[in-house]
Amino acid sequence: MPPVLLMAHADVVPVVPGSEKDWLQPPFSGAISDGYVWGRGALDDKSPMVAILEATEALLAKGFQPERGILLAFGHDEETGGHQGNQRIAELLRQRNVRLAWVLDEGGFVGQGMVPGMSRNTAFVGIAEKGYMSVRLTAKALGGHSSAPPAFAQTAIGQLTEAVNRVGAHPFALSLDDTVEQTLMALAPYQKGVPRVVFANQWLFAPLTRHLLGNSKEFATQMHTTVAPTIIQGGVKDNVLPPSAEAVLNLRIHPRDTQASALEHLRLAIGNLPVEVQQLPGGWEPSTISSTDSEAFSLLEKTIRQSFANTAVIPNLTAAATDSRHYLGLAEQVFRFAPRQLAVSEIAGIHGANERISVSNLVLMAGFYYRLMEAQQ
Ligand SMILES: [Zn+2]
Repeated sequence: MPPVLLMAHADVVPVVPGSEKDWLQPPFSGAISDGYVWGRGALDDKSPMVAILEATEALLAKGFQPERGILLAFGHDEETGGHQGNQRIAELLRQRNVRLAWVLDEGGFVGQGMVPGMSRNTAFVGIAEKGYMSVRLTAKALGGHSSAPPAFAQTAIGQLTEAVNRVGAHPFALSLDDTVEQTLMALAPYQKGVPRVVFANQWLFAPLTRHLLGNSKEFATQMHTTVAPTIIQGGVKDNVLPPSAEAVLNLRIHPRDTQASALEHLRLAIGNLPVEVQQLPGGWEPSTISSTDSEAFSLLEKTIRQSFANTAVIPNLTAAATDSRHYLGLAEQVFRFAPRQLAVSEIAGIHGANERISVSNLVLMAGFYYRLMEAQQ
């Protein structure tokens, strides 16, 4: 029987210098106050790690012996790509010819009030994850004195901004595919009136849904590859034309696209402009899609329901990157869900100020992992 793998990461993002004053408790204090444990990493992603270890110790103390192997992988560099952590662990497992039945990493959580019109909490479980690619656009032109410039559109900055605008004017098409359809089908029973009928009958209402959900940033990201302009540079002095200007676009690639097809899309959008389009190193392809029809998903669903009251389990596409991608070739199924119940105000702490986890959540989390591991017998 192949083992299962539970994941979490111990590293954290920095606290932006100068923002310490926005915290109600010092960001690295680990203070326990007002029913919360405060500090950077409390949510992302130390609490799952602590909860997995608590559950493991409790099971060991009572002499529990799982029939199926349970592996624990705690990365120390997830926020910078996981190259020395989970990438190495995955390589070691590959050398040892270990196959994994399923992997559970961070991703979704139990949200309160996340879906309009829904009284139940929603546990979003990522069944796939987007890919990642950054692309640099470089425009070159003759420099010189800005008192006698060439046509505006022929300056480096003129060409570059035109290229960036063309990319912006050609977004990747929104489309409903299997993963979004599964998300909608899972949400439908909890909706009332029109949304219920629309979500449950995608064969009929796909264009309407595309239109309705395309206006929501969260849903749109599930339906296409996104492009975010993140860096723009050019010029050093106000009266000198720069000989070059560059911009960086960050793409999160939908599973229906690849890095190569996304690059081609950008090239087509930019057309005949004399702008160099270059893929930067460090990206990766989108993940495969795990099955909700599997024993592993059923077990997750059941364990979530046992651990969190009044909660609907909803499969979806994880837009952010997780370390679980390092195990894609080794595991039959990969799911992305960390068992914590969060209100919108708490979610703001992830990579932001006042990151905190309630003590009651820690208890629920340990209970979830305890049940999940106990089922491996
Ligand atoms: Zn994380």
